[in-house]
Amino acid sequence: MKNDTIAAIATAMSPSGIGIVRISGPEAISVADRMFRFPAPEKKLAKQRSHTIHYGHIVEEGRVIDEVLVLLMRAPRSYTTEDTVEIDCHGGILVTKKVLELALKEGARLAEPGEFTKKAFLAGRIDLSQAEAVMDLIESKNEYAMRSSLNQLSGLVSEKIRALREEILYEMAYLESALDDPEHISLEGFSERLSGKLSDWKKRCVSLGSHFRDGRLAREGIQTVILGRPNVGKSSLMNLLMGEERAIVTEVAGTTRDTLEEYLNFHQIGLNLIDTAGIRETEDTVEKIGVGRARKKAEDADLILYVVDGSSPLEESDYEIMDLIRNREAIVILNKSDLESVMLPRELQFLTGKKVISFSAKTGEGLEELGEEIQKLFFSGLLSQKDDFYMANVRHKEALDAAVKSLSLVSQAMEEKMPEDMYSIDLMDAYESLGRILGESVDEDLVNEIFGKFCMGK
Ligand code: GDP
Repeated sequence: MKNDTIAAIATAMSPSGIGIVRISGPEAISVADRMFRFPAPEKKLAKQRSHTIHYGHIVEEGRVIDEVLVLLMRAPRSYTTEDTVEIDCHGGILVTKKVLELALKEGARLAEPGEFTKKAFLAGRIDLSQAEAVMDLIESKNEYAMRSSLNQLSGLVSEKIRALREEILYEMAYLESALDDPEHISLEGFSERLSGKLSDWKKRCVSLGSHFRDGRLAREGIQTVILGRPNVGKSSLMNLLMGEERAIVTEVAGTTRDTLEEYLNFHQIGLNLIDTAGIRETEDTVEKIGVGRARKKAEDADLILYVVDGSSPLEESDYEIMDLIRNREAIVILNKSDLESVMLPRELQFLTGKKVISFSAKTGEGLEELGEEIQKLFFSGLLSQKDDFYMANVRHKEALDAAVKSLSLVSQAMEEKMPEDMYSIDLMDAYESLGRILGESVDEDLVNEIFGKFCMGK
């Protein structure tokens, strides 16, 4: 199975533009030759040099299917490292499909989702972190997420982790050699050196991991919670936000929590509105759910939308919520601006220290400003680190945490003056944990799971 020739449509199935059929494997060029005709019919792809582009037609039993450009990439200089042919079709979806069918008829097998990238990974062409970035790129929900995936793809994460691993490996090797051959390699001063290294390594792991929060934002959207006392208009706000985007709303089951989240793209920012619909019947109000519960929600959120009813005076629970959001990213929504108001935005701004938007969930007033404000927060917080990268993935974060833990165990062993040969087990663990991010010590199930998530044709 490993070495057969696969084919798939590599482009999105949209009616416009070019559709690309990609064929990869030992038979790729001969499959293509059987369906492609040069203007000079005796010419063959098999005779052409690598990395050349050819004009011609896809032909089935003498009948022209499409006018195409064919890109020829010979092994190992291709994405999969195998012989690869890309056929740029120009005739729309149906024609592109037809060309794929023809490739299958001529001996290629339909690629599994992610199989091209899996081949690239198995051939050592890209590491797992890059492969996942390809996947994130395909799945990117907004353009900021895309930038993060691109950064990861270019190997920034991999580079830093690889450098870290090399240093750990070096010290491990040194230690092992010294233990093996104490006559020639001295361990004098080793503990001091290792101790310094350990804190440096831990710092670097923590720093890599600290981007995780941002990475989660970039990939999955901003965890957003709407707070406010009963009847101020929270559900109305939620409906207004969702209504605007209903067509592209998707439901994502929370990975670590049991609530449903509604994803929406609001002013190009991905928001995960934590759906309170399910708990509305029994636990709608701040009183009912208790401040404790509200606090928990607020803690988990990246962004809090605090809704205040501008047509009625503040109540006790408002002050509790204000306390709760004091040190958080929050926007205050002064709702019901269409009614006579008893409160000025300025007053509320003074009380909360947050941006206050005069709003009406009924008329939609303030919606634009809310979008701009969320964008502003997003840009100033997250994208001020444009040149940096984001860990885009829970698995990476776990691996980093595990590495830090192992390194801490080494530090502890040193403090307790344990014999040196005790260090290497935990050093090895740290080394392997980091390797998991690059896919260097992962089991096959994980590899299959990750690649199974890819779209067809990538
Ligand atoms: P929740 O309990 O905070 O979720 O509040 P709801 O969204 O259920 O709204 C409570 C009541 O206020 C409903 O009757 C809404 O129609 C009304 N309401 C919500 N937003 C506005 C608004 O901007 N203007 C007016 N006039 N009424 C609103």
